[in-house]
This record gives sequence, structure tokens and C-alpha cells, in this order.
Amino acid sequence: MPRPIEALIHPDALAHNLGRARALAPDAKVWAVVKANAYGHGIERAFEGLRGADGFALLDLAEAQRLRDLDWRGPILLLEGVFEPRDLELCSRLGLWHAVHCTEQIDWLAAHKTHVPHRVFLKMNTGMNRLGFRPQAFRAAWARLNALPQVDEISLMTHFSDADADRFGQNGIAHQVAAFHEATHDLPGERSLANSAATLRHCADAGVRADWVRAGIMSYGGVPDFPEHDAAHWDLKPAMTLRSRLIAVQEVQPGESVGYGSSFVAEAPLRIGVVACGYADGYPRHCPTGTPVLVDGVRTRTVGRVSMDMLTVDITHLPAARLGSEVTLWGQGPQGSALSIDEVARAGGTIGYELMCALAQRVPVRVDEG
Ligand SMILES: *Cc1c(COP(=O)(O)O)cnc(C)c1O
Repeated sequence: MPRPIEALIHPDALAHNLGRARALAPDAKVWAVVKANAYGHGIERAFEGLRGADGFALLDLAEAQRLRDLDWRGPILLLEGVFEPRDLELCSRLGLWHAVHCTEQIDWLAAHKTHVPHRVFLKMNTGMNRLGFRPQAFRAAWARLNALPQVDEISLMTHFSDADADRFGQNGIAHQVAAFHEATHDLPGERSLANSAATLRHCADAGVRADWVRAGIMSYGGVPDFPEHDAAHWDLKPAMTLRSRLIAVQEVQPGESVGYGSSFVAEAPLRIGVVACGYADGYPRHCPTGTPVLVDGVRTRTVGRVSMDMLTVDITHLPAARLGSEVTLWGQGPQGSALSIDEVARAGGTIGYELMCALAQRVPVRVDEG
């Protein structure tokens, strides 16, 4: 028998979450962002649930190829554009749309030989200061692109740094929205500004919804502004469940410790369940004693350090728990129970995004057929 750990991907949850993006931005088209192998869910496994999107956005050319191999004929956008000139050949061949964020990418396009002109998304740096042309340089970049026979349609995009919260005590995106609109108001072309957080929090504003929203984390049921809001607040459903089983039970006496480093010492008699899940499965080692976990659908806490292949949980108040009991590390549990990945991430000092993406190769993943 293999180790009892597995991850489940829930296509109905993916479709539901995509529907939430549509409901929040009804007049916009929706990119399902599937970079990082669909945030760790697996492009092929997530495809079924996300195929209702208007397009797929990602970074990696090999991942774009995998989408075409799934027979996806619709739009695919490379969010960082091409990394070297010869990538443009694959864009021509696979019909990929690509971001243009720097002068070099325009130079490469100008030298590219193609019969099919490309659709590009010209990116503005409105304050994130990672990728894109500054507002003052944007129009010159647009004019240069517009003059190229290699370019068909030019769309306009930017990316927010603080759509999930306030910034310096004020609206987190207003300054970026203003800079974008000021520099683009008289340019033609479709626009894309909103990530998940902006789609959830700011899409009442038509200038933020624009023509395309880019739904990443929300598609997977992750909450970008947790703990201010939770999945119930935004009506999002977890698309990934990580579950395992108890492989041993220990009775621990007061004064005894559990696990490496003896970081946890029992103050009273405790029953401890040993779970077949550790940091080599992608469970964060930083999660301290007290991190929430479900045993047979009932919430309890981890105790002691997470080790490579195991972690330990308190089952003192769960007399029915025994070897073989089901343990939900995050996602959907038995009998309608659930444990938010955002909550587990927070306990470990990180965000749900990282936990999804860090699901380890050794964990078998199955699509939940319902
Ligand atoms: C990753 C990414 C997104 C999606 O972000 P979420 O917060 O996951 O919705 C949107 N746009 C760009 C440019 C990205 O790189």
C-alpha cells in the first residue's frame, strides 16, 4: 500500500470560483491564471474545471504548449512576455499572445520574421516597479509597436501592488489606476488591470474591471485578503484538498515531549496522532504547535515540530480517532467539514499561494470526480 497521503483537485470548485469572477466583473472577459502549473494543482488536472474561462494566462512556454496539447484553441497570454528572441517563433507557431514590458522585447519583435502578426499586451509600470514601461515612456513604446508589421492588436495592461489591502492608510490601487488611465485614456485597445484581489475588492469600478480580469488565486479558492476576509465572505470554494491518515497513536504523559527539538512538552496526559504528512510533502515546516488540522472532520491542533515525513496532532478529545483516521491538512474534509488553506498558511507565516505551489512531487494527486 502506498503512503496514505493524497491531494484531491475539485473541478466543481474551480468552475464555481471562475463563476465568481464572472459575477463580479460581468462585462469583462476572464483570464484563468494557470502559471506555476496552475498554482500547484496541475494544468491538465485544473483544465476541466477552468475551461469555461475566456483565456489562460501563464509565464512558461512549456506550460503554454501543454495547454495547446489539451486542444485549447482560445487565447493564451504570456504574462512576462518572451525571455529571448527565439521564443517569438513559438508564439507565432502556437498563436500565443504576449506581454511586452521592456524595450528589448520590442527590438526582438522588430527583428522577428513571421507571417502571422502577434497580439501583444503592452505593460505599464504604474508603481509596482517590477515589469513595465513607466507612464512617461508608455506612449513611445506604444507608437513603436504600432508601427511594426509583426504586431497586430495592442492591448494595455498593468498590475497592482496593493489590491488586497490599503496602502499607507489609503485605497491600495487608486494611485495606480489614476496613472494608468491618465497615460492611456486616448489609446485604443483592450485593457487588463485586475488580479484576484482587485476583482474581489475593486471591480464595482468599471475602470478596474476593464476588458479582462486576471483571476489567479481566487480561481483556486484562495483568499488574497485573508484574514480581513475569508472564503465564505467571498463565496470561494477550495479547489485543492490535502489529506492523509493517522499511522500511529501515542499516549503521552505530563512532562514528556513530542518530536524533534522537544519543542512541545505535554502539561497533561495527551493522546497524540501521528500523521503521514511532513515538509517533504509540502506541508510548511514553519507551522507551530496549534496550527489547525481536521481529524475525521473535527478540528484540532498540531503539536511539536513538523518533520520530513510526519507531523503530530492532538487527539485527546477525539476518543474515536485511531490508526487509519482521516486527516485533512487543508481543503474539503469528510461530512462537509473544511479547513482553509489560508488559515494554515497564516499559522506558518506565509500565504495560501505558497502552500498550493509547494505541493511536493511525491504526493499523488487525483481529480475528484464527485
Ligand atoms: C500571478 C499574476 C496574476 C494573478 O494574481 P492573483 O493574485 O493570483 O490573482 C495576475 N496578473 C499577473 C501579471 C500575475 O503575474
